Amino acid sequence: MKRDKGLLIVLSGPSGVGKGTVCGELRRQDTHIQYSVSATTRSPREGEADGVNYYFKSKEEFKRMIENNELLEWAQYVDNYYGTPRNYVEEVIARGQDVILEIEVQGALQVKENFPEGVFIFLMPPSLKVLRERIEGRGTETKDLIDSRMTIAKEEIELMDKYDYVVENDEVSAAVERIKAIVTAENCKKERLIDKYKELVEE
Ligand code: 5GP
Repeated sequence: MKRDKGLLIVLSGPSGVGKGTVCGELRRQDTHIQYSVSATTRSPREGEADGVNYYFKSKEEFKRMIENNELLEWAQYVDNYYGTPRNYVEEVIARGQDVILEIEVQGALQVKENFPEGVFIFLMPPSLKVLRERIEGRGTETKDLIDSRMTIAKEEIELMDKYDYVVENDEVSAAVERIKAIVTAENCKKERLIDKYKELVEE
């Protein structure tokens, strides 16, 4: 379906909920949705490539991007900065394609201020117990760090009210199906189609 402007979809939620896995599955299924690659100051993990997983930047380069207004939003998370390059997102939606941002909650709320017409999806863990188990399962954090991530997660869950949709990530395949259904429904909203069909009425 050709439209004037694509959807800006924001997928957010607490650390460990599985945003990356869900987004990865959406990409793997080759939907028409484009994926925004973020900039970060954190070091690449094994298997991550520059320009694919992230644009890896020094703190100086990242600060310059902020000063030059090159980022749609940015946030500090643990000891690093993460941000969404503005140009790519604006270009994709301008040519009528949908784009998804996989970002943490502070960044999502910034996007909402600038793009209230975006589609804001909160990925919810089935329970705090499951969330803790998932973070523990990664085996990358000490107990103290896990405790602090859990405290942040509870604060983030309180912000679910700011989102348009809440998708529980009980099973990745089920969460992906729900997100695809949301995108389909959003693309049929009359507000987004009125301009497209205006000329039929005027003819
Ligand atoms: P990680 O270091 O595990 O790749 O990401 C840490 C957190 O930063 C995750 O919650 C991830 O969704 C979030 N994140 C990734 N890219 C961005 C971004 O561009 N902006 C914001 N605000 N958060 C991001």
